[in-house]
Amino acid sequence: MDFAFDARTEELRNKLLTFMDEHVHPAEKTADEQRALLASPWDTPQIVEDLKAEARRQGLWNLFLPDAEYGAGLTNLQYAPLAEITGRSPQLAPTALNCAAPDTGNMEVLFQFATDDQKKQWLEPLLAGEIRSAFAMTEPEVASSDATNIETRIVRDGEDYVINGRKWYISGAMNPDCRIFIVMGRTATADDPDGPDIRRQQSMILVPRDTPGLEVRRAMQVYGYEDHYHGGHAEVVFNDVRVPAANLIGEEGGGFAIAQARLGPGRIHHCMRLIGMAERAIELMCKRAVSRTAFGKPLAQQGVVQNWIADARVTVEQLRLLVLKTAWLMDTVGNRGAHTEIQSIKIATPRAVVDILDRAVQLHGAGGVSQDFPLAELWAAARTLRLADGPDEVHQRSLARREIKRYV
Ligand SMILES: Cc1cc2nc3c(=O)[nH]c(=O)nc-3n(C[C@H](O)[C@H](O)[C@H](O)COP(=O)(O)OP(=O)(O)OC[C@H]3O[C@@H](n4cnc5c(N)ncnc54)[C@H](O)[C@@H]3O)c2cc1C
Repeated sequence: MDFAFDARTEELRNKLLTFMDEHVHPAEKTADEQRALLASPWDTPQIVEDLKAEARRQGLWNLFLPDAEYGAGLTNLQYAPLAEITGRSPQLAPTALNCAAPDTGNMEVLFQFATDDQKKQWLEPLLAGEIRSAFAMTEPEVASSDATNIETRIVRDGEDYVINGRKWYISGAMNPDCRIFIVMGRTATADDPDGPDIRRQQSMILVPRDTPGLEVRRAMQVYGYEDHYHGGHAEVVFNDVRVPAANLIGEEGGGFAIAQARLGPGRIHHCMRLIGMAERAIELMCKRAVSRTAFGKPLAQQGVVQNWIADARVTVEQLRLLVLKTAWLMDTVGNRGAHTEIQSIKIATPRAVVDILDRAVQLHGAGGVSQDFPLAELWAAARTLRLADGPDEVHQRSLARREIKRYV
């Protein structure tokens, strides 16, 4: 078994590490300063646009998309270590490379399922980094971890569909550059005994932001943060929103299957970025431990601190191997074949990284919970990934059922 990265990955890793040192990390403070001066905190600071232009110029662009014509043509195994590096600066780096969620998942959906016209209108500007997008599935009124509960209605009316419903935690929607929503709703209901199966009642449809009746109502908070860098997480109301029937993605009733297809690559991207976040936490822990003295000796000489750092390193090495194995399986046997591993990394990574970040916060004392270090915000971001893209328990349920099935 060869654990080395191939030549292309190594070349891109080196390029990206240099880009992070020369452009992204120095921009972190500037981005905060520029945002404080913007008319709205949801607007994009100029430095983010500058980073995008520089990344594109250097060929560090759309690395997430395996298709060589539309994207960089990398396998999951090649992209995974690059996503990890961007995780060291999750507010800026993924956006700079046009590799940020939820755009990546949305671009994959459009790439796989959209018509040529839909691709021209929405995929091309997304790939060019000219607009942003949102994915609207979760609803405050129903347990949305079970997608069959979704209540938003998408009703055919002549040449149009009419959409009514309320969504929340719709990432990216507060950013005015977010021009297009992929909305999941019901084109059929359970009322009709002759109607389609429960997993064929949902559909996905494209809704441009400026369509009458679409209201981005408010920004939901995440542990008190508004998450400006990711365009927030909005409550969005659809009130008699009318779009042409040609905006449907795929066929009526195909929404559930598209949602499943969207999540495989997205999960591995999140997990690799989380590992990058953990690496940053370890680095900050070590720097803090050697620079602070308490009770007569540097914190680095306290056994408990050494244990935290050692445990964090062991955990990160284990997680990385599991995530890379998953990436390799996705490339070789497909997302279906990698089902157990995709569930495993989605369960294991966020909770382990939350623990590492929590220890890093502890080691930094009050500074750890403050705005002067990235740790508190990273902790909040990592913690939400135990919910976003499906709660841990749903993945545990599905993984366990597969394991048990082999014995019945
Ligand atoms: C920061 C953030 C960003 C998000 N971005 C988006 C987005 O862009 N678009 C979007 O549509 N949604 C988004 N979400 C929503 C997210 O996908 C949902 O919160 C998630 O799917 C859970 O749905 P729910 O909140 O309705 O919880 P519920 O479905 O009500 O579940 C609540 C809890 O019940 C338990 N539970 C549920 N099912 C089971 C089970 N089978 N076994 C055991 N326990 C179970 C779990 O503990 C779960 O956490 C985001 C959420 C967050 C926090």
